[in-house]
Amino acid sequence: MSSPTTDPIHDDRYEDGSSVMLTSSPDISVSTHHLSNARILMIDDEPLMIEVVKAFLEEAGYGEVIGCDDPSKAFSVIAAERPDALLLDLMMPGVSGFDVLEKVRATESLRYLPVIVLTAASDAATKLRVLGLGATDFLSKPVDSSELILRLRNTLAFKAYGDYLANYDGVTNLPNRNLFLKQLSLALRESQRENKHCALLHLNLDRFKVINDNYGNRIGDAVLRGVAERLRDCVRARDGMANMSANNEDSPVARINGDEFTVLLQELNQIDDAAGATRRIQRHMSRPFMIEGHQIYVDASIGIAAYPDDAREPEDLLHKAQAALSQAKAAGKNQFSFYAKDLHQRTQRRASLEQDLRGALERNEFMLHFQPKFDASLKIVGAEALIRWNHPQRGLVPPDKFIPLAEEIGLINPIGRWVLTRACAQAVHWFKKGHPIPVAVNVSSVQYEDPGLAQLVQAILKATGLPPNLLTLELTEGALMRDAQKAIEIMAMLKALGVNLSLDDFGTGYSSLAYIQHLSLDELKLDRSFIKNLPDDYSSVAIVRSVISLVKGLSLSMVAEGVETQQQLDFLVQEGCDCFQGFFFSKPVPAEAWNGLIGIS
Ligand code: C2E
Ligand code: CA
Ligand code: CA
Repeated sequence: MSSPTTDPIHDDRYEDGSSVMLTSSPDISVSTHHLSNARILMIDDEPLMIEVVKAFLEEAGYGEVIGCDDPSKAFSVIAAERPDALLLDLMMPGVSGFDVLEKVRATESLRYLPVIVLTAASDAATKLRVLGLGATDFLSKPVDSSELILRLRNTLAFKAYGDYLANYDGVTNLPNRNLFLKQLSLALRESQRENKHCALLHLNLDRFKVINDNYGNRIGDAVLRGVAERLRDCVRARDGMANMSANNEDSPVARINGDEFTVLLQELNQIDDAAGATRRIQRHMSRPFMIEGHQIYVDASIGIAAYPDDAREPEDLLHKAQAALSQAKAAGKNQFSFYAKDLHQRTQRRASLEQDLRGALERNEFMLHFQPKFDASLKIVGAEALIRWNHPQRGLVPPDKFIPLAEEIGLINPIGRWVLTRACAQAVHWFKKGHPIPVAVNVSSVQYEDPGLAQLVQAILKATGLPPNLLTLELTEGALMRDAQKAIEIMAMLKALGVNLSLDDFGTGYSSLAYIQHLSLDELKLDRSFIKNLPDDYSSVAIVRSVISLVKGLSLSMVAEGVETQQQLDFLVQEGCDCFQGFFFSKPVPAEAWNGLIGIS
């Protein structure tokens, strides 16, 4: 018990040797029988003995004590009554306590039933035989009331603890998969009786592995507890949650696997009501967790399956929610998806998009738009190249819709090569016209993991003749954090080519400030989610201020992304930000439209 871990089993709270472990874990008492609520069955051929023990127990506060004085019926009574503990007399005519014990232990569902054997015999052989058959404890006859109460209490405490371990997750105190399926089964029966809909949400944390890898399991566990708490909060707040059961005992939240949680929404009038609740959960999750001084962001993908429409059985419903989760994940991070009756249709749509994407390069359907970056004097100081797919039937497909797909099916490398080449060629064109405008290119994490990236960049610079200092590569935090050591090496190689490196979407990932110092960075781009609510939102203001001071401390430049209003700009200028990008200045536009912007014909 010396290793301090976050697991309550080994929690140092127990180091005092306290035998009542139950009180330290708040949720246990909710789920397991309070000791005095326990159901005790006593089997003894002497009715008087049963009466005496019953009196002792009732005196001690046990409300449910059942007696059976017919040993031949003992086993069927046990099976029917399902007691929490059995007091079993050893010497009985006909069927002995040994026989009963043997049969109990041989029965799957009774294997762990606590059995306290009552015996007048004090010889070692009898005791050994009883223990060998799996008795939990002994009690000598004549029964001493204090001893009875204590032995029973301890036995029940261990049973409660065993039940807890079998049914609860030790990290979050939420029901585990086992208990969840039982609760689900009851809930579905109730819904059937009342003719109501239920929605089962299957939630998976995006990138949880990255958190665990970078911060270690202790902080990972703390994040899981934080997630559990937010889910419980969401569920408790009834408004917007479409009449959820406010009864905490049947907590509709469970942790069913590593970073997978479930939430059951009951008593829905229509299944679409689940969408609002789901969005609300996602909103709650996207606020950062503050853990030991780290600001950690967690997004959740959620799959939703409906009772009775999608499935009527617990396992099946869970399975469908899982399938919906895969759908949600395929759509990107932080998404949710209903188990789709039109799943087939969507799968087909995706398949056809995939097929079209495979031919898009050859058919020359991609194009680049460029969005200007400005400094505080409103001078253009750079251009970000953003890819567009001009689909013959669907029209302009935005990158969010096809870049993840391209990454998944292995097309991102050729597409990325195309983008780099075109962007560099465009920058060379401007350069030759007397406008040395640095061009920024987004590099996907998949490209970034390719060891040939630096070589490719070098080859393209050479082929196009672009001076390296006019190229900026924008990398996202996720890509860098996946393998921190490798990231440092690859960035050094890129940096050696003379190009600029920018950290994109800053603030949405998990970079620790200490880590950023080790990267060969030139620029941070603060994600537009922090700009959006400026200057009124207090926490956005605080984040912007601290990032600006970080950037200054590290002598980096900072780009504020997604600047849409004069107020946002004014605030950022006042705080000392030196570079801006956003619709307030210009949307991304084709290269031709730049001629007017920078004054070339
Ligand atoms: P990003 O790198 O964060 O690019 C900025 C996105 O924000 C662009 O969306 C841009 O149109 C949008 N944006 C700029 N200013 C504003 C504003 O004021 N308000 C709002 N609401 N949005 C603004 P876009 O072009 O749809 O690109 C989305 C994402 O797709 C990009 O996010 C980037 O991650 C990815 N992407 C785009 N082009 C490429 C590419 O060539 N390669 C790779 N790997 N990813 C790309
Ligand atoms: Ca970018
Ligand atoms: Ca960005």
